[in-house]
Amino acid sequence: MENNPHVRVRDSKMVAEPEPKLSVSITSGFWKRYQTLLYEKILPYQWSALNDEIEGAPKSHSIENFRIAAGTSNGEFHGMVFQDSDLAKWLEAAGYVLEIAARDDTIPDEVRRKLGQRVTEAVAVVAAAQQPDGYLNTYFTAKEPNRRWSNLREAHELYCAGHMIEAGVAVYRGTGDRTLLDVVIRFADHIATVFGRDGGKRRGYPGHQEIELALVKLYKATGERRFLGLAEYFIDERGAEPSYFDLESQSGNFKPIWGPNTRDHAYNQAHAPVREQRTAVGHSVRAMYQYIAMADLAIEARDASLAEACRALWDSTVKRRMYVTGGIGSSRHGEAFTIDFDLPNDTAYAETCAAIGLFIFAHRMAELDDHARYCDTAERVLYNAIISGLSLDGTRYFYVNPLEVEPSRCDESGTYEHVKYRRQSWYGCACCPPNVARILGSLGDYVYRTKGNTVFVDHFLNGTASLSLDSGTMELEQSGKYPWDGRIGFTVTRAVDGPAGIAVRIPDWCDDASLTLNGEPVDVTEGNRDGYVVLHRTWQTGDTLELDLPMPVRMLSADPRIAADYGKVAIQRGPLVYCLEQCDNGPGLHTVTLPESPEFSVTFHDAELGGVTVITARGFISTDEFVGETPYAADRRTETRKPVELKFVPYYAWANRAPGEMTVWVRRFES
Ligand SMILES: [Zn+2]
Repeated sequence: MENNPHVRVRDSKMVAEPEPKLSVSITSGFWKRYQTLLYEKILPYQWSALNDEIEGAPKSHSIENFRIAAGTSNGEFHGMVFQDSDLAKWLEAAGYVLEIAARDDTIPDEVRRKLGQRVTEAVAVVAAAQQPDGYLNTYFTAKEPNRRWSNLREAHELYCAGHMIEAGVAVYRGTGDRTLLDVVIRFADHIATVFGRDGGKRRGYPGHQEIELALVKLYKATGERRFLGLAEYFIDERGAEPSYFDLESQSGNFKPIWGPNTRDHAYNQAHAPVREQRTAVGHSVRAMYQYIAMADLAIEARDASLAEACRALWDSTVKRRMYVTGGIGSSRHGEAFTIDFDLPNDTAYAETCAAIGLFIFAHRMAELDDHARYCDTAERVLYNAIISGLSLDGTRYFYVNPLEVEPSRCDESGTYEHVKYRRQSWYGCACCPPNVARILGSLGDYVYRTKGNTVFVDHFLNGTASLSLDSGTMELEQSGKYPWDGRIGFTVTRAVDGPAGIAVRIPDWCDDASLTLNGEPVDVTEGNRDGYVVLHRTWQTGDTLELDLPMPVRMLSADPRIAADYGKVAIQRGPLVYCLEQCDNGPGLHTVTLPESPEFSVTFHDAELGGVTVITARGFISTDEFVGETPYAADRRTETRKPVELKFVPYYAWANRAPGEMTVWVRRFES
């Protein structure tokens, strides 16, 4: 217990209370709109979806499955084997909102009351489904009671357990009610009786990682080291020979769920012990959740070999296997990574959940190394690959996030079956929608980090923050119009005694950042350490910092090894990647060409797409019509182009108007 700085002992029964090192309230601007959307639209809509009340949407059955497992409803389990996790993620998101609502009086009481009721109702249903020995999983309880833990590779029991553990911690944080926390503690203790190295236990580990990072959270919330130990066991055992997945598939009680068993353990990142893994492979969400836990343990246990593996896996992911949007996992086949620089735009998978995983992994790496490059990537992922998965009204979703779409191909060709150009009301496999909800609810946790007596400003977001430093609590206020404008103001609203550091991230996209302290210029190159300008001084209440991040429109080229992007550019302004849509620019977007040095105009449109900065430029579109026997002609140098005014909108906002083509990468005119 004394080793855990996150925990304060509340009473003699060793009941711990999570004591966040920081609390952030979002007060206005871009992210306030999302936060309001979260409690006004997203969570109520998803609650209806989980209760099968959305007409025309695939049935979730998630809550009904818990009632069936509890014996309070008749009927059969329905849905994916991991259907429990949808409710768990919703509960986690709701827990965050209730935590925010407790300190934010702009959130209406009615929201708090109604959401609180739903959480209480859902927690009661979950608790009722828990078995006398602590086990909790509706698929196995309702459908396969004799096959518990018999198919770890496919059956997602430990994955669902992990999400419910995260929910238990979040609901406790948000409400102070221990009911769900106690349920998941009993469940985790039950799991510890089943898995481990001690005699008679199974030496298994999850097919879909998630419980590892959740157990670290449970340890931080309770101070109980046994949960950290179980997380370490799962991470350390992964990839050991002989393969547990091979052994279980030979057991008499094994029953395949998705067809024939495969020995491709790279899909589950179980092809080698985690400390030997250097390349991001396999199912991209599983990979990220594993890397998050590895980084967690590298930090908690000061484990250098885990940290080394994390850095290599980071480089593999971000330097060679990530889209310009921050999307990862380029192949539908296995929802997986493929090979370096294989990043097709039109068949991209880039699952929303994988982006969420990368965002969290980035923050663990920032915690580990204090380098801003991780938060640069986190920002790219958040503004482009995560919120692209959510419609502007909060009720339509993308699971797959392509960078190029041609609707007739999606409608007619099996190659593009996974690529949607209309956002969906729900999914049979609905992992992404509630995952977006929980990341929006917890966004405040990622804005700042504290270490010793230094505050790291990792993201720009309007709000107030209370930050625990070694020498006391510092309070900071941040304001501006980010991501549309790069001028950001900070005010120290409560200083600590003696010197303290404020380290401000200078984003990698910004070449000419400037900073003033109480109106006096600060040399941002001199104090720049690993991407942060570090100001170490004795702060006074009322001190101000003005950061200016100029946001010219940038044209990005890709590494020439990315075949799909060769000879093309992507448009970025500030942290936002832009795209062309058919509803603004007409069809045939793949023939659009930008001149060598386009003149970009930048205008903020208040009434469009929820308020966005639109970029326009003169370009060309092909007017060639081929009329031969075949679609080929001898000399393409005769191509005729017509000048057009091109309109670029932020990628995250695409597919919120008329359906049609979309592209991120645009050809550049060769002079
Ligand atoms: Zn997903």
